[in-house]
Amino acid sequence: MNENVYQDLYKQLRTEEKELLGYLHSFGESGVSPRSIMSDDIANSAQDTLNQHISFDLYERASNKLVQVRDALVRTKQDDFGNCDICNGPIAADRLEAMPWVTTCIECQTKHAYTPMPWEYV
Ligand SMILES: [Zn+2]
Repeated sequence: MNENVYQDLYKQLRTEEKELLGYLHSFGESGVSPRSIMSDDIANSAQDTLNQHISFDLYERASNKLVQVRDALVRTKQDDFGNCDICNGPIAADRLEAMPWVTTCIECQTKHAYTPMPWEYV
């Protein structure tokens, strides 16, 4: 992979990591942590429950993305960064630039029909 592209992706991943950490941290400050969300308080109104559900969902998404971003940061140190996990072919540069944490090429992602994770159900 072109060294400049590689550097850019690395920087992009670092920025993303920082933003996600800040975002996850803000949940703690607003008192919305997974612990408080999961506490089973019957007195909560339905709206509160809904809001908490949404917050928890966002929190889950952000933490999962952070895992992916950190994973990608580790992979940037390996030779196969930018290669598809499934077919081992190169992942298109524009796809990597848009989402440096992806592990599959667009063909494989399309072929292996995308299954939403439990935390992605609305
Ligand atoms: Zn592939």
